[in-house]
Amino acid sequence: MDISQWEKELQAILPRVTEIRRELHRHPELSGEEKNTQALILSELQRLGVETHTFKDCYGVMGVLKNGEGRCVAIRADMDALPITEETGLAFASEQPGVMHACGHDAHMALAFGSAAWFAANREKWRGTVKWFFEPAEETFGGAQWMVQQGCMENPAVDVVIGQHMNPRYKAGVFFCKPGYVSGASDAISLRVTGKSCHGAYPESGTDAIVIAAQIVTALQTLVSRTLSPFDPAVLTIGRINGGTARNIVCGEVELEGTLRTLSPQTRAKMKERIAAVSSQIASAMGGACEVDIQPGYGAVYNDDHAYSVIARCAEEIIGSENMVLREAPSLGVESFCYFVEHTPGVYYDIGSGIGTALHTPTFLVDETVLLPGVAMQCASVLALLADGNPDG
Ligand SMILES: [Zn+2]
Ligand SMILES: [Zn+2]
Repeated sequence: MDISQWEKELQAILPRVTEIRRELHRHPELSGEEKNTQALILSELQRLGVETHTFKDCYGVMGVLKNGEGRCVAIRADMDALPITEETGLAFASEQPGVMHACGHDAHMALAFGSAAWFAANREKWRGTVKWFFEPAEETFGGAQWMVQQGCMENPAVDVVIGQHMNPRYKAGVFFCKPGYVSGASDAISLRVTGKSCHGAYPESGTDAIVIAAQIVTALQTLVSRTLSPFDPAVLTIGRINGGTARNIVCGEVELEGTLRTLSPQTRAKMKERIAAVSSQIASAMGGACEVDIQPGYGAVYNDDHAYSVIARCAEEIIGSENMVLREAPSLGVESFCYFVEHTPGVYYDIGSGIGTALHTPTFLVDETVLLPGVAMQCASVLALLADGNPDG
């Protein structure tokens, strides 16, 4: 079905999608506080006859529609807003001071509601199971991890999961995606360099932790350029350094904090190993010591080649090849969608939300003409993925 056929198909649903989007926009809630958002989603899904599940320790919601035997496809919509004071001047602007849906998650939830409404009303057109993951705290700790831990990917097992995100670099409805890696893995690096404090005029009686830390920072900056292929992206940023008490005291302890971003698991492991070795060995060579602590953050998101090709075909039919932009490179930003695709094929794509604004800013706007192609893309992709590999589908 092309966009005009979908427009007829979704005629009865779209007005409610717009209303829900505006209602959510008016009442944004920060990460981990999505209580009223959860209540609204639960009542909307239940009204459609969609089975609902909630999760411990977070405000996540899963909607499930079972319609006989078959494959299972899931859609992720994130729920949280940001600590930003809205300056759009919209009639339905945030009524919550200092809180705003500035990343489009209001639209994501409304679009997911739209596809749920269509699947609930058109059971004769599909078989299998569709799940909708409403994920809280995407902007902070990633509610996806609680949802996955509590079994959202099981019973029945999800075959493919889709994530769709607003992108204000493109006009409304543009499909922006690529197969393969789309976002990076992150690791939190903490280093504690210890030396021995002494009088600043008599350095021979101490070990200067600041000088050791300076050598470590410089050496770490050569790891990406000297141990990795130029075609294997990675970033190591030391973003915080703290040490010393006075200008005339040799510093005895320095703390450093940084972030490592990588794509492939091999590079991630190699960089972690090199960071630990370089930091501790430089410190010991200089008469001090360095404790290294590396905590894993989000994993990388890899778009499954086959599922990508199925979804790109849907985009061609609905949005048209003239409105499809092949993303050139992955980002070393992170996405909590990684938890859903850790053991399951998935596709994460952007949909243009209208040019002229930027995500995470007080003037971010969603051009609501994205709602029709947004819902149509979800419905068509899920239909195609449910029927994928199924001769009767
Ligand atoms: Zn965001
Ligand atoms: Zn977002």
